[in-house]
Amino acid sequence: NSQPDIRSEAIAVDVDRVSKIFGGEPPVTALDDVSVAIRQNEFFTLLGPSGCGKTTLLRLIAGFEPPTSGSLRLGGRDISRLPPNKRPINTVFQNYALFPHMSVAANIAFGLQMLGKPKAEVRDTVDEMLKLVQMEALKNRRTSEISGGQQQRVALARALAPHPEVLLLDEPLSALDYKLRKEMQIELKRLQGETGITFIFVTHDQEEALTMSDRIAVMNAGKILQVGPPREIYNRPVNRFVADFIGETNFLTGTAQGDAVRISSGHMIAVPLDGRTGDVTLTVRPEQVRLCPVDQDGALHAEISDLVYFGTDTHCHLALKDGTQIVARLQSLPTGEVGYMRGQAVGLRFEPGAVQVVGA
Ligand code: ATP
Repeated sequence: NSQPDIRSEAIAVDVDRVSKIFGGEPPVTALDDVSVAIRQNEFFTLLGPSGCGKTTLLRLIAGFEPPTSGSLRLGGRDISRLPPNKRPINTVFQNYALFPHMSVAANIAFGLQMLGKPKAEVRDTVDEMLKLVQMEALKNRRTSEISGGQQQRVALARALAPHPEVLLLDEPLSALDYKLRKEMQIELKRLQGETGITFIFVTHDQEEALTMSDRIAVMNAGKILQVGPPREIYNRPVNRFVADFIGETNFLTGTAQGDAVRISSGHMIAVPLDGRTGDVTLTVRPEQVRLCPVDQDGALHAEISDLVYFGTDTHCHLALKDGTQIVARLQSLPTGEVGYMRGQAVGLRFEPGAVQVVGA
């Protein structure tokens, strides 16, 4: 009867120095010394490019694979050696894995019956889940006879039915078209809030991660590079990879000189350097770049090389005098124009605090 770990009260899943190496020729290090603490009742997203280890981490949490080293704790208890069915964790798979010949209700009931729940409890829980995902009207329909979005709801209901502490979702929206995906994003967020279950969500879609998550872990090559709320990840990326992977951005290279950086075009840009010296890379988001008169104080001189219309906004491609390319995102006017022309000489400046150092 050891004292409960104070930290564990708020932590749902604690991944502690976990590595996963798949044997073979050559061996693959899918996870490389990964540590992360996922909080109770949080919508937590694993985000990264294909092959970075997202699914592997999810499978380890679910218990489908053992870690090569390190440990996994749930609510403070070591679950590294527990089989999947002994963990209070459930998974929604990308392909939903529903039984097509069975009804919506029977699909939701299935897992509960396997757990040996009494009939009346199964019935009540199925009704509760049908209501939760708004599928009461279709409860007797076979799942082969409902739409993709509806199948998604059934898969969610089935996974939520045993009231797991943690729900793992592996790219659950990737099979849906754009509009439906947007709808289901809101739906998932609502379900998470209503159930209070910790959601661990895998995606390689950065927009999805930014809109849905309480916190995001950005992964690459088996490592977690940064963990934080969406705004922090977007506005304060710790390195070039994160800045580049999340949203669109501009990079500028230069040399630290006092409190400023002399970029390759010769312009000086004031930026917090935190004691860095030598060569540095700066990043600035396109929506933080402003066009201004060429003769404005402190303006960088540039020429517009292209204007690309995106509906609500227009991407203005600019070239500094050394050829450095910068994209500015300008709001489109009601006419669809932005009031600038290709070939025009303009000044540009950056919003205060918008330029970040992301390493050498
Ligand atoms: P995706 O977005 O494409 O699903 P991911 O980020 O989920 O990618 P993982 O599926 O976790 O990536 O794979 C991480 C790495 O481990 C990849 O290089 C993959 O090829 C490798 N890998 C995954 N499973 C195995 C396995 N069973 N045996 C060998 N290598 C594997």
